[in-house]
Amino acid sequence: MNAQRKAPAAVAGADRGMDSYLPEHGNGGYQVRHYDLDLDYRLGPGRLSGRARITAAAGPSLSAFSLDLEDSFKVGRVTVSGKAARYTHRGGKLRVRPAKPVPAGADFVVDLRYVGTPVPVRSAHWGEIGWDQLTDGVIVASQPIGAPSWFPCNNTPADKAAYRISVTTATPYTVVANGVLVSQRTNASTTTWVYESTAPMAAYLATVQIGQYELVDLGPAQRAAVPGRLLPVFGHDFGRQPEMMSAFEALFGQYPFEEYTVVVVDDELDVPIEAQGLSVFGTNHVDGYRGAEHLVAHELAHQWFGNSLTVADWRHIWLNEGFATYAEWLWSECSGGVPAAGLAARSRSELARQRQDLRVSDPGARRMFDDRVYQRGALTLQALRVEVGDDAFFALLREWTLVNRHCTVTTEQFTTLAQRHTDRPLAPLFRRWLHETPMPLA
Ligand SMILES: [Zn+2]
Repeated sequence: MNAQRKAPAAVAGADRGMDSYLPEHGNGGYQVRHYDLDLDYRLGPGRLSGRARITAAAGPSLSAFSLDLEDSFKVGRVTVSGKAARYTHRGGKLRVRPAKPVPAGADFVVDLRYVGTPVPVRSAHWGEIGWDQLTDGVIVASQPIGAPSWFPCNNTPADKAAYRISVTTATPYTVVANGVLVSQRTNASTTTWVYESTAPMAAYLATVQIGQYELVDLGPAQRAAVPGRLLPVFGHDFGRQPEMMSAFEALFGQYPFEEYTVVVVDDELDVPIEAQGLSVFGTNHVDGYRGAEHLVAHELAHQWFGNSLTVADWRHIWLNEGFATYAEWLWSECSGGVPAAGLAARSRSELARQRQDLRVSDPGARRMFDDRVYQRGALTLQALRVEVGDDAFFALLREWTLVNRHCTVTTEQFTTLAQRHTDRPLAPLFRRWLHETPMPLA
């Protein structure tokens, strides 16, 4: 309303993050190193009891700091590095005041218990996001703001940390979470599943999937959790995924995590969902005709583009979605289908018929997941490939994933690196495709 009013000065422990699109999510003053989550989930009542131990490094000295956690939880006791701390919890923010300020640069551990019935976070533009009940189980899909629906976190893509996720639930159910399954213990009627993820992960990519699934191996370090009755059709529809993995490793460099798991939930899903080290599909993506194979490629590609290389700010979302969409086209080309150039031509004529009012490099929070970001992002890569040639283009992709492995990235970092792979000036190409709204003529 009042453009002249000065924004409040950034203070240590600010309960606003640095993200230009979603500043109300995420928090300033610290970086998380490790989340240790012990969750007990009762499927009937949908009740979650959790303990979170969060190890973080202070930036400046912190007399207070905040975490994101939905108000559907009641927070029990909070300690900071072993000492009871004062806190308030409302409006999705847990504000913590340690007994003594955390010294600048020091590590500290926040230990808290929380209990409640998790519900997805309502969002104005993207529907309900986060922990949600299936007909028989749980799905967690948090991009971009759903993570606080199930654990206290610094909910910004720029803060990546390691995780240990332990889930205890009724024994007939299978639990899949990020990372490697390090233990599975059954006591009476419940089983505790413990997963560890050493590669740093943004909170939105953390997930828990609970369902009556069969666990099967798909290939080296590739697993799947699938409702038993769908296994034969799944075996056919996802049968080329090991081949796809090899093709992507040749094009994008080594797969960035220890394992890759595909979960097929026993419900239909509008779209599949990527999480770190796993992807989640619905029964409608298993049709017996490989009708969703392009989505299998899209989600697998997110392991490089989105999960290993995570946007430093949501503004750069095309670095996730444009690349994953282009990977669909590359898989088509590699597997004997229509070459990327042909799919690009189709996409281009589709886009030419739509409104040209979207800037790929800055689509705005409301239109982050607009299909035009995906399509024009992929078309940018096709234009770049034509401009620099295949050898330079794929060398660039491999260098991009290697130098930024497990880090955060920006559009400028990509365009700068691209320029190092050719003598031809790329600024005009990037300006037309990424920074201007009209569809380029070439
Ligand atoms: Zn995607």
